[in-house]
Amino acid sequence: MSPLATLLSAIATGTIRIVDLTHTLDEDFPTIVLPPEMAQSAPMRIERLSHYDAAGPAWYWNNISIGEHTGTHLDAPAHWFTGRDRPRGTVDTLPTEDMIAPACVIDCTQAAAREDDHLLTRTALEAWEAHHGRIPERSWVLMRTDWGRRRGAAFANLRTDGAHTPGPNADAIRWLVEARGILGFGTETIGTDAGQAGHFDPPYPAHHYLHGAGRYGLQCLTNLHELPPTGSVLLTAPLKIRAGSGSPLRVLALIPTRDDSQRKPT
Ligand code: MN
Repeated sequence: MSPLATLLSAIATGTIRIVDLTHTLDEDFPTIVLPPEMAQSAPMRIERLSHYDAAGPAWYWNNISIGEHTGTHLDAPAHWFTGRDRPRGTVDTLPTEDMIAPACVIDCTQAAAREDDHLLTRTALEAWEAHHGRIPERSWVLMRTDWGRRRGAAFANLRTDGAHTPGPNADAIRWLVEARGILGFGTETIGTDAGQAGHFDPPYPAHHYLHGAGRYGLQCLTNLHELPPTGSVLLTAPLKIRAGSGSPLRVLALIPTRDDSQRKPT
């Protein structure tokens, strides 16, 4: 069989399962909140045009408006000043080959349950590698915190001094980019950086190092508990917004449901 026929057969028979890592986009989904002197990202707006009624007797449709960084979304290199001059750094130009890539899932749920400001460290990543093998080049690294199960105010987790959400520390993300050559870093929270990362050195190190190297961010992922630590493949095609800095997108994971090497010959 051709590779594509094999893939389709595996999906049809359930040997490969598709997991949706995307939140439903609605007007209530929280957006990042910046200090009040800064411009703010807009939440989703849905305007009903017609619903089989006088405005359109046979059809239903809406106008939508949305920030590029609302809901489950991708950050392109041009989102950050360190990536502003990267070639193909906006969502309309980024290489399509980068939209299909393997994923490594780092389970940080216990630590994040204990501490909202939990930081993923290089030591923790090295411990993960000792169990699961070296993080491959051009792979996604996903920080699983089960934050995607939270709703509303608990999701944004704002206090008077800003958001309190987990993320990588500067050393960890720099090591992933420079020593492992990852394609991108994904989180279940509103940003790829921790809520308090404006105080880090450099500020917002995930944005700083990822985008400076032409790599990507994924945020507001959900259902990461359904992924194995290794062996899944992500499909991450953003909207083709001209010169867009990022885009909401549907993130799908292909995961193996059983080990083919264990199957008996038929
Ligand atoms: Mn973003």
